[in-house]
Order: sequence, then structure tokens, then C-alpha cells
Amino acid sequence: MDIHRKGSRAPVPGQEQWFTGTVRMEPVIGAEPPGRPGSAIVTFQPGARTNWHTHPLGQLLMITEGRGRAQSEGGPVIELLPGDVVWFPAEERHWHGAAPDASMTHIAVHAALDGRTVDWEGPVAEKDYLAEPERSAS
Ligand code: MN
Repeated sequence: MDIHRKGSRAPVPGQEQWFTGTVRMEPVIGAEPPGRPGSAIVTFQPGARTNWHTHPLGQLLMITEGRGRAQSEGGPVIELLPGDVVWFPAEERHWHGAAPDASMTHIAVHAALDGRTVDWEGPVAEKDYLAEPERSAS
């Protein structure tokens, strides 16, 4: 059993090549192979978001604080609020991040395929990020 006490692991900044703006990631778990679970608590400052990307086995997001937004390719920008749960199926191209005027924190849970949990692409264009968000119908 490994126990990581609250505050015992330093947050790491989101790398500039994969994120726009200021992002902080607190590790939760990265299981040793053949275990697959991977998880992090990610905080996006206002205006910050991921690049476009996919997850080989999908990704679960649980919004815990603030106000954010996300979009899957070909769909609308969706507003995200605390308590919202989001599932991106395997290989669905998407991005997620804060609102332009509010920070957002989510717990991300994903699984590794051959050691890989994400495949990164390019940044989200400002005009796509700034589209008026919808509240999801479901
Ligand atoms: Mn994702």
C-alpha cells in the first residue's frame, strides 16, 4: 500500500507545449504497468486550457471548483460547473479548460495503453475557445 498524504507531493506546472495559459497539476496516481489507472487534479487559471488532444482509452473529468468549458470536435463549447461529470470516449478529439473570466479545477481519470494516456495536438484557436458556451441538455 502506498499512501500519499495531502500536500506531500508538489504540484507541477502544465507544460507550455500542451497548454495555453497557467495550469497546475497535482498527481493523484500513475499506476505501475500492467496497472492502467492514471489521475491528476488539474487547475486552470482564467483563460487557460489544454491543447486539442485524444485519450487512447478515454477520459473522465469531475469538475470540483470554479467554472470551465470543454468541446469535442464538431460540437459546441459546453460550460462546466462543479459537480458536472464528463466522459470523453477513446480517441474523441477534444479540449478542456477554464472560462475566460474564472478558474476551474477538475479531477481527471484515464487509463494507460502501452504507457500512453494522451496524444497531444495543436493549441485551441482563440475564436474557438471564446465561442459562447452552451449548458449541456443532459
Ligand atoms: Mn482530455
